[in-house]
Amino acid sequence: MNYNVVNLLWQGLSGHKKWPQAWRSPEPKSRYDAVILGGGGHGLATAYYLAREHGMTNIAVLEKGWIGGGNTGRNTTNVRSDYMFPESAKMYDFALRLYETLGKDLNYNIMLSQRGWLTLIHDQHQMEGARHKANWLNCNGVDGQIVDRNRVAEMMPGLNVSDNPRYPVRGAFLQERGGTIRHDAVAWGYARAADRLGVDIIQNCEVTGFDMADGRATAVNTTKGRIETGKVGVAVAGHSSKIAQMAGFRLPITSHCLQAMVSEPVKPFLDHVVISPGTGVYINQTQKGEMVMGGLLDLYYSYGQRGNFPTIEKVISAAVEMFPGFSELRLMRHWAGIVDISPDSSPILGQTPVSNMYINCGWGTGGFKAIPAGGYLLAHSIATGNQHELAEAFGLNRFRDNRLVDEGAAAGIAH
Ligand code: FAD
Repeated sequence: MNYNVVNLLWQGLSGHKKWPQAWRSPEPKSRYDAVILGGGGHGLATAYYLAREHGMTNIAVLEKGWIGGGNTGRNTTNVRSDYMFPESAKMYDFALRLYETLGKDLNYNIMLSQRGWLTLIHDQHQMEGARHKANWLNCNGVDGQIVDRNRVAEMMPGLNVSDNPRYPVRGAFLQERGGTIRHDAVAWGYARAADRLGVDIIQNCEVTGFDMADGRATAVNTTKGRIETGKVGVAVAGHSSKIAQMAGFRLPITSHCLQAMVSEPVKPFLDHVVISPGTGVYINQTQKGEMVMGGLLDLYYSYGQRGNFPTIEKVISAAVEMFPGFSELRLMRHWAGIVDISPDSSPILGQTPVSNMYINCGWGTGGFKAIPAGGYLLAHSIATGNQHELAEAFGLNRFRDNRLVDEGAAAGIAH
């Protein structure tokens, strides 16, 4: 038996009492050079890149609950970079490329599985749209191709490719580099690496307000006391508008519930991620064998973070339509997160109306795939005060100047 196995057994049998902590649990200092609000993937990645790329280590991540307990730990783990406009394609592909080496960079297994992302094509109109998209992506240096119905049937045994369903399968758009990544591992990997660079990660610390002077936030008020700060980074997803309100400005963001669910585990049979644009329902199989399923977001505004039966019914009926064999499966768990929807389904990155406050939000139903880029770009803004060229199109000012980056088609369904 090697050392690791002996150590694992010893830790397990001794009640994990001497298990080394992956990151510290410090009390907040009275002052930091920068504080990051939100201990989701984007906030933790921001802290990591601030320390690694910019040498800023007197920083803290303030999380009201536990790290990764927001959307980062609630999402369906799908990643891809097949966004339409050149500025989005560049940014999302930058994220996917960072993900491709992230396990090594963080020395943490994020369980990257580039098993391929398939968007089904149900009719001639979608076929033409998908061809157009594949050409655009290829021109932007991103992979994407069309596969015909026979190939789809080979790739996904069990998928109903007959002419009977409401939305018959004519083919699919395939991004081979798309796939899944273990979501908690992304949060934990960034947290451990940031902690080792000196970042304080402070959980159970809710931000409740700001002290302002001359258009700057000079301190954040929290449930663990007042913390003075030089700069503020905001990465709180569905709670962005609340933080903006505390700082005295408004964001064009609405908050909605997005739900997902998993079945009991079965033997591996689905080694791609598949989505039907007809129903908005998408499915992947976890390493444990569970079928992860999700669908459209709830259209009413909410901070409730709770699911409901009509959505479960819609998702399940569409999943059974795609894979009739699923009618034998039992549903095991169901949950929801609060997502931050912007008017053009693109993120908001960079400077806010408060001179030392920078924001990362608006990822809506699809920000897990973007975590490395979101963190990298927010860190750049905080450290330099400037917008990185990859974030140029995504500033808050685009709503004032009418320069929207409308990615509704790429992001409108559940990611
Ligand atoms: P979060 O992970 O939500 O982190 C924000 C943190 O801020 C939270 O932990 C919260 O507790 C904290 N916070 C809030 N207010 C305060 C405060 N006042 N003080 C301190 N802390 C505060 N994306 C994909 O790319 N692929 C998918 O397959 C996918 N599926 C999804 C499925 C579901 C069901 C959901 C809900 C989302 C899905 N997403 C997906 C979207 C993705 O999860 C999010 O866009 C992404 O995780 C956002 O990360 P974040 O770090 O910005 O936010």
